[in-house]
Amino acid sequence: MTTNHYDVVIVGGGLAGLSSAAYLSSKGKKVAVLERGQLGGRAVTLKIKGFNFNFGAHAIYARDSSVLKTFEKELDLHIDWQDFNPTKAKYDIGNDLTAVPANVQGLFQTKLLKGLDKVLFTFEILKTMLKMETGHPHMSIQKWMEKKNVNEEVKEMMLTLASSNFFTREPEKIPSDVFFSYYSRLFTTNKPVAYIGGGWQALINEFVRVIEANNGVILTKTKVESFHVEEDRVVGVVTPEGEFTADEFISCIPPKEMVKVFAETRLEHAIAQHAEYEPTVVIVYDIGLKERIDVPYSYIYDKQNNIFITDISYYDQTCVPEGGQLLQATAYMRQSDVGNKELAEQRKLEIEALYDKHFAGWREQLVVPRVSTRAIVQEIKWTMNQKPMPIFMPDYRNLFFAGDWCEGQGQLSELSFSSAMNVAKLILEK
Ligand SMILES: Cc1cc2nc3c(=O)[nH]c(=O)nc-3n(C[C@H](O)[C@H](O)[C@H](O)COP(=O)(O)OP(=O)(O)OC[C@H]3O[C@@H](n4cnc5c(N)ncnc54)[C@H](O)[C@@H]3O)c2cc1C
Repeated sequence: MTTNHYDVVIVGGGLAGLSSAAYLSSKGKKVAVLERGQLGGRAVTLKIKGFNFNFGAHAIYARDSSVLKTFEKELDLHIDWQDFNPTKAKYDIGNDLTAVPANVQGLFQTKLLKGLDKVLFTFEILKTMLKMETGHPHMSIQKWMEKKNVNEEVKEMMLTLASSNFFTREPEKIPSDVFFSYYSRLFTTNKPVAYIGGGWQALINEFVRVIEANNGVILTKTKVESFHVEEDRVVGVVTPEGEFTADEFISCIPPKEMVKVFAETRLEHAIAQHAEYEPTVVIVYDIGLKERIDVPYSYIYDKQNNIFITDISYYDQTCVPEGGQLLQATAYMRQSDVGNKELAEQRKLEIEALYDKHFAGWREQLVVPRVSTRAIVQEIKWTMNQKPMPIFMPDYRNLFFAGDWCEGQGQLSELSFSSAMNVAKLILEK
């Protein structure tokens, strides 16, 4: 057994672990990141037959006010932003395609809302932007809109938007306060959606570059088996290679993993509760094509089936071999449908039918498909009766938590980045 001492030991090398490590090391802290597998966690890029498949669309929402933007600025990260083109975004409404009301032009053109409804929808957006609507934590967005007598069409439009931002087939269950705080930020941004050239891997490489430049240590294939605690402090983490001790610790591993490593500590019960919460699960079905199938849109959302297709290679040519195309389809799920194998098969067929409809000829061009029938987009889904984990619990005063299961700003990776930034600042303030 060897002993290694650091200022901060960070367990988990996903986006939360790497971003907090990069930030702390840039401020002079001696850090070590311990990752049981490969770096990146769920933000992984897999190279198969010349195609770079990202697990997830790596879409960053409201990038100009995002925490990732702050990391970019403060750490001098090189990020090749590829902004979403709203004129190429369409809703599939059965027999027709119509504009997504993602900007004024889209709102003017969309067939989803009629004359007066457009005005009412704009009014709802304005109220949200001005924070005149804040919602209530004990009321779902469905209940809130009923209480406020929001017009049916406008209500449906708001829920359709929420479906895509929260990756859910049940947007009505989102707590109303979460809904309004999310959209007050998104509606005021100039950059609602952006992709990262080179995918998640490019971002991971940038965090690693900063950590290594500041003499941080990154150990992959190093699984933390338990946290070693004494009274109200963590003293070390135990791995098969030995114990790593530190002044401060950040646990950036999902609650379902955390229950194991915190067994028989004061946190056992608190973490067990979070580990039982439902995650946001989707089906992902990506296809790598030999030759591009040119269509006048780069994003299609099938409103009835809650499936979207993004032409990732429209935004990022580096993810395909020359002349190729990479399409990514994601099907949202109802919680009660998760784990139902028959239904997963049916959703896969629905995705294929959507490819047939909008990218005719894809089967002949197919080089490689990549399917995941249970992709965890967010470890704790923000619905009524579920709460994210706090980033600090009073039981151990040198232990912090970060990840998309924690309290923070936004949803998805923004939660990982914001909780990572918040814990890094708390540690620096000490
Ligand atoms: C299909 C899909 C689509 C998505 N689309 C988007 C999107 O468009 N935009 C967006 O912002 N986000 C998106 N996301 C979400 C985003 O990928 C996640 O929010 C983010 O990657 C979570 O990072 P994390 O560091 O919080 O957690 P994780 O990635 O889960 O990292 C946890 C890390 O801890 C490691 N670990 C676990 N146990 C141990 C242990 N005992 N010892 C050491 N290490 C351990 C794991 O191996 C892992 O690397 C998507 C996700 C998916 C799956």
